[in-house]
Amino acid sequence: MAYVSGAPSATDDVCFLCAAASGTADQSLVVDRGKLVYILMNRFPYTSGHLMAVPVRHTPGVLALTPDEGAAIFVATQRAIRVLTDAMHPDGFNIGINQGSAAGASAEHVHQHVVPRWAGDTNFMPVLGDVKVLPQDLESTAANLREAFARLGPL
Ligand SMILES: [Zn+2]
Repeated sequence: MAYVSGAPSATDDVCFLCAAASGTADQSLVVDRGKLVYILMNRFPYTSGHLMAVPVRHTPGVLALTPDEGAAIFVATQRAIRVLTDAMHPDGFNIGINQGSAAGASAEHVHQHVVPRWAGDTNFMPVLGDVKVLPQDLESTAANLREAFARLGPL
């Protein structure tokens, strides 16, 4: 709620994706972890199960990624699709990167969204730019997904 209300926070000047990567922030929504990339459940999901594949290194945009990091993000995206398909049976996915504030980026740390979609889940909602908060138990969903990722073996 502090984020939503714009209340000042001691962590305002810290990149939240770096903090999640380094373990200095709350880890409850981190669902999978590799050397170059990790997968984080979005705290403000467009739909239930909205995940993000995030490079561990702070990288402001796609051009700053190494080829290995780019490949790792894509592998993580495939794992996210596999796990979400088994766990939540969506009818489709929106997959993509918002780069730059004009494109709706929420952080200066590039990340790829993986948003499960169900037929008729909404009128076409603003997937790439607006935030739609759904009431749900994020942490219990994250715990279930974390177990599913672990069953795939190391990222
Ligand atoms: Zn960062």
